[in-house]
Amino acid sequence: MMPALSPALDLDLIRKYAVPGPRYTSYPPATQFTTELAPLSLQDAIQEDNAPGAGPLSLYFHLPFCESRCWFCGCNTVITRRRESADDYLGWLIREVRLTARLMDPQRQVAQIHFGGGTPTFFPPDELRRLGALIHEHFLVAPDCEFSVEVDPRRLTRDHVHALQEIGANRASLGIQDTNPAVQLAVHRIQPQAQNQQAFTWLREAGFSSINVDLIYGLPLQTADSFARTIDDVLTLDPDRLSVFGYAHVPWIKPAQKIFDQKHTLPSAENRLAMFAVAREKLTEAGYLDVGLDHFAKPGDELAGAALSGGLHRNFQGYSTRAGASLYAFGISSISQTADTFRQNFKTLPEWQAALAAGHLPVEKGYRLSIEDQRRRTIIMSIMCARRLDFAALSAELGVDFECTYAAELGTLGDLITDGVLQRDATGLSVTEPGLPLLRVIAMKFDAYLRRDAQRHSKTI
Ligand code: SF4
Repeated sequence: MMPALSPALDLDLIRKYAVPGPRYTSYPPATQFTTELAPLSLQDAIQEDNAPGAGPLSLYFHLPFCESRCWFCGCNTVITRRRESADDYLGWLIREVRLTARLMDPQRQVAQIHFGGGTPTFFPPDELRRLGALIHEHFLVAPDCEFSVEVDPRRLTRDHVHALQEIGANRASLGIQDTNPAVQLAVHRIQPQAQNQQAFTWLREAGFSSINVDLIYGLPLQTADSFARTIDDVLTLDPDRLSVFGYAHVPWIKPAQKIFDQKHTLPSAENRLAMFAVAREKLTEAGYLDVGLDHFAKPGDELAGAALSGGLHRNFQGYSTRAGASLYAFGISSISQTADTFRQNFKTLPEWQAALAAGHLPVEKGYRLSIEDQRRRTIIMSIMCARRLDFAALSAELGVDFECTYAAELGTLGDLITDGVLQRDATGLSVTEPGLPLLRVIAMKFDAYLRRDAQRHSKTI
């Protein structure tokens, strides 16, 4: 049976077990990708993915431009105020779509589309219409396609919303992060609540069926009290879902974050925990279900339903309700995924454009999963999504005796069982209600690459 999804938080358990770790939006994590895959084998990977009976498609478009940099940002962005950049980028994106689509089975339906960034609404409305036309020209979009767009309320007009609606978008994710003006000043992102309200009004009027809000805790000047007020402000908007992320301070990867070390003291681990606890308490009191990790959803939302019925899936955007889709991603730094391959595009505009100009798929890195990688991915996704390890079901799915093959890993779970994070029964192990915030920590026990990457990951809470 699936555990209820809004248990009380056991702070002592989190204090004891929360250590830095991957978010498992993929396994192996992107840190394992290598430059060894030649374009020819990548073409083979796409053609293998066309096999009869292949599942639906998911498309991702990385639209990287932002007018100014938020100092906490961990995304791959290009900061510019030149609107012509969007037109130029779209020209290259058209080349990439044409190069890729001609290798793909045109009969496969697209079940999911996501515009991420950067700021997709940096693109003027007519450029978004052009991108929509490109998608519909090259792909068979399912009538019930889940089409989501990351929206920056500071860069949104009613015409943007109309353009997105015209091309089929039906979901939006709004970056709000924190509504406190002092925090906004400290992180270089001024965003009055009136802009959030206006964005919600326009999107609701246009019939967007599910609106998500992104918040971040662990930023400079935030306290549990101030973050509680942010939650109150956001609840007045009545979002369908919320993602409440812990700020990942990785200045060795994102040099803009160094400014926080120079100007401010970041909240302590204990304060971060207090912020997460207060956010979770307020959201669950307001009727949202804790879907897992940092996701919350209204009980009527598809994501909450999937979580309750064991139907969650996980992809590069986080939790999803759509299963089995091969992911084809376009634009700089984007990551594509088939059943046993990953490929990641060049991260800079010049490298990405140069590959396209030469007529190549603009892929810098890739990875082909071994059988063992695929088995461990199944186990880790079972923990992250179903919150259970059913020994017989896993043995059947993996083609090995699960308990014998992974006896060493299972042997490391003793403390987690004793402390009530996991519960053993006749058929397997289930994550308990207090254990839900520690999903990543449990999954890490089955990660074959973790020791090598231990220093690279962000805090689990
Ligand atoms: S947080 Fe969003 S708007 Fe800010 S720099 Fe990053 S991608 Fe751009």
